[in-house]
Amino acid sequence: MIELVDRFGRALPYLRLSVIEACNFRCSYCLPHGYKAAPERPPYLERDEIARLLLGFAALGMRKVRLTGGEPSVRRDLTDLIAVAAATPGVEKVALTTNGCLLKQRAQTWRHAGLSALNVSVDTLDRLRFAEVTGHDRLETVLDGIELALSLGFNSVKLNAVLLRGLTDDQLPAWFNYLRDRPVSLRFIELMQTGDNPDYFQRHHVRADPIEQSLIVQGWQPLPRVVDAGPAREYMHPDYRGRIGIIAPYSRDFCAGCNRLRVTAWGDLRLCLFGGFGIPLRPWLQRDDQYEVLTSAIKAQLVLKQAGHSLHAGKTGLTRHLATVGG
Ligand code: SAM
Repeated sequence: MIELVDRFGRALPYLRLSVIEACNFRCSYCLPHGYKAAPERPPYLERDEIARLLLGFAALGMRKVRLTGGEPSVRRDLTDLIAVAAATPGVEKVALTTNGCLLKQRAQTWRHAGLSALNVSVDTLDRLRFAEVTGHDRLETVLDGIELALSLGFNSVKLNAVLLRGLTDDQLPAWFNYLRDRPVSLRFIELMQTGDNPDYFQRHHVRADPIEQSLIVQGWQPLPRVVDAGPAREYMHPDYRGRIGIIAPYSRDFCAGCNRLRVTAWGDLRLCLFGGFGIPLRPWLQRDDQYEVLTSAIKAQLVLKQAGHSLHAGKTGLTRHLATVGG
């Protein structure tokens, strides 16, 4: 039985766990000057703390966990964390969001450790633009890693592309070409405003509607929404093996399908990516016998989950950049 249900009746069986705040890329919309650690920053949650956290969430009905960050592959023990997640009773799906820089070297190890789904960020297929947006001329390495991942039998491989006016919003033909023979699901994500990027947001935010219209005109068909689909609107086309999803956080009913909770790399529970507070769970992750108090604390917070974010009003909550909470 799922006990992770909020007061609007939304079931929340999906946990996004940030395992690190640091990132080795310098994406222009997220960490344009590279990651800078705050002085006196406490250590990230360790393996045993993560194991207890996942046990608690799974006991309440969490069935899918995504490891994110920052860049999770910067953590040396990532493979071990994947194995811990996969071994948690009740967890059916372990996913990872990565910039793909180590995919070629690690995809096989991660798969063996129990990783079932992979999201790789590829904002553009144009090499120079990729370098401009991420600060690294590594598009080829990332794409090679994706090819390898596709041969390893992951249940799903998704690509995240943030739509940026003048930088990545003119790539539809290149993406069509890419998706023709590859069974991946590309997600166009509208740029979200965060605490750190208001000027960048003004310059580069673009709605996904014109792309969605283009898809429809070119014969892409919307897929029926499955119950636990999350917020993406997905399209398929009979001539393409790949699919295209639209993640439009500024669209009216975006939060109605929310199915997730988040925990930061230090163990703070966040009820929303753009929430204004988050209680620390870390004190209850120190010993196995704290399980009851941990699960009670999580349940008690659920009534505070709001119907939706306030991004339209420019309210970005505690989120300075998505690396703090895990996008
Ligand atoms: N480092 C990993 C990666 O690159 O995928 C995981 C963390 S990253 C914060 C997760 C996702 O959030 C990436 O796909 C990234 O492009 C997206 N993202 C970051 N900042 C964003 C923003 N302001 N608006 C929309 N998407 C954003």
